[in-house]
Amino acid sequence: MLQQTRAEVVIPYFLRWMALFPDLQSLAQASEARVMKAWEGLGYYSRTRRLHQGARFILDRWGAVPREEKDLLSIPGIGPYTAAAIRSFAFQERGVAVDGNVARVVARCLGWKEQSRAEIHKRAYSYIDEHLPRDASQHPWELVEASIELGACICKPKGALCEQCPLREVCVAFRTQQVENILPPKKNQIQPVDRFVPLLVSQGGEQEHVLLFHHPPWSLMGGLYEFPSIPLAERSQWEKLASTRGVYPVSEVSFAPITHCYTRFRATLHAALFTVEQTRPVPPSISLGEVLFNSSGEDKPRKRLASRPSLAWHRRSQLADYSFSSGHRKILFLLRSKIWTGMRFKASHAVSK
Ligand code: SF4
Repeated sequence: MLQQTRAEVVIPYFLRWMALFPDLQSLAQASEARVMKAWEGLGYYSRTRRLHQGARFILDRWGAVPREEKDLLSIPGIGPYTAAAIRSFAFQERGVAVDGNVARVVARCLGWKEQSRAEIHKRAYSYIDEHLPRDASQHPWELVEASIELGACICKPKGALCEQCPLREVCVAFRTQQVENILPPKKNQIQPVDRFVPLLVSQGGEQEHVLLFHHPPWSLMGGLYEFPSIPLAERSQWEKLASTRGVYPVSEVSFAPITHCYTRFRATLHAALFTVEQTRPVPPSISLGEVLFNSSGEDKPRKRLASRPSLAWHRRSQLADYSFSSGHRKILFLLRSKIWTGMRFKASHAVSK
């Protein structure tokens, strides 16, 4: 949870997660949908799936988390860093857990400034491996934990608190005033992306159905639901096409644009509500989706067919149990809190046919 998200954001998720899955058994025996729902909003869903698979794997094979490195490394989703961290924190064994924080402390202390991030990381790993005590009586795990904490709280990527640092006397970067030049924060190039999100709802009160994409479990957004969307620039073209196929805007309902930041882009989602003339709302609906959403080059069928999300109608009453990607979850929240409060939609046929 902490790998890409700040601790203050993670805390409520972590507490809820631990209440739902307090031990290995409860996590391993939970359905994937329940696990994904508990993680919803944190992103990087492939990690959730691997965590879940890992719990099942451990339970099947050993019944409890193993402590040997080779066993830990055989668990799906566990690499050298996680294996070392588990050995160190859970079992108080020697584990060379070198994350970005530790690499930064070592590189600054020793004044390494000419290498790339990857080279520094590799070198820091060798350095820690060489110097970390092998004798358990010297508590090597304390040194590992202290280095991680020092990097996270004192030797920060920007604004290092050198005056409070216990390594100040020996730190080359501090002495030579090179602190901010060694492993400064990464510069993220955030791309703005504007998407039009037509919320297609079939008429029919509580039996209303909503058109949704569902990403296959092995894809990047594995297991998540999203409303269909297209580039904003294609909105008017799409609306014209939609009106010829019995899809009409609900003109009395409007949504403010929703912005959501991902690692590499900032998406602004422009949602609008549409009703679909459909007396029998459950499939076949794929043809409707294919016709309506493959108008743009960007949304043409992907090369890897197996990773394409499936498009289908879902009962409105089921949506609360689904896991949505973060931006689309905000749209669902608006739909549920502001629109689906007992009102029935009235379609506007304002768009020319
Ligand atoms: S003295 Fe400053 S740069 Fe050196 S390890 Fe401490 S916080 Fe980092």
